[in-house]
Amino acid sequence: MKTLVAVKRVVDYNVKVRVKADNSGVDLANVKMSMNPFCEIAVEEAVRLKELGITTEIVVVSIGPAAAQEQLRTALALGADRAVLVESADELNSLAVAKLLKAVVDKEQPQLVILGKQAIDSDNNQTGQMLAALTGYGQGTFASNVEVSGGQVAVTREIDGGAQTVSLKLPAIVTTDLRLNEPRYASLPNIMKAKKKPLEVLTPDALGVSTASTHKTVNVEAPAARSAGIKVNSVAELVEKLKNQAKVL
Ligand code: AMP
Repeated sequence: MKTLVAVKRVVDYNVKVRVKADNSGVDLANVKMSMNPFCEIAVEEAVRLKELGITTEIVVVSIGPAAAQEQLRTALALGADRAVLVESADELNSLAVAKLLKAVVDKEQPQLVILGKQAIDSDNNQTGQMLAALTGYGQGTFASNVEVSGGQVAVTREIDGGAQTVSLKLPAIVTTDLRLNEPRYASLPNIMKAKKKPLEVLTPDALGVSTASTHKTVNVEAPAARSAGIKVNSVAELVEKLKNQAKVL
């Protein structure tokens, strides 16, 4: 069973992002970039399915600038077999990304496609759902458990107040939630081996996909700075301040 995993290059989760002075977006100059954490979980799940003998080949795909090859090499070091970069310097919206992923799905014909539930840069949480709509495949989103057997995948989904298990006919789309697994670290020998694994570079034009945007970002603002807190000496003083100063009681 071939498994396709979509990985996105995003600002590292430890970085405190800065908004550009003209409020047009986030300043990416000299900022540490990494694989989106939910995509790391997607890669780990594919590697575990390969270790179980269910997946036979893992192909990782990223859509983004040439530098996204770094994240693809990381995925190769974690156990993926092959990588595809759809190179585009433009900032693409989710529909454009989903259309490009659909073109890669048509080309690669995977039985299972695993994506993160959301990218931590734009928090869109929609690419997997759009890809499911474009391909017509079943979707199991927010997966906390994945079991493949007999041409089906059972996906346990994190939902409000509990869990729901859906059974999907393969080929299918799965998006990963935090509790699905704990990603491993790449070992040094595997990082070295990953340098020799195949990485194909394609373009949206070569895939015949128009990435024209249907929307543009109008304004990006940092959250308002929090004012400093104060210490109170007694419960009575706290209640008095909540009543008369904060006016929340
Ligand atoms: P989003 O819908 O943007 O929150 O992203 C959800 C998931 O879609 C990510 O975790 C990735 O698996 C995939 N994805 C989004 N953008 C890209 C991209 N540019 N390249 C590869 N995968 C992507």
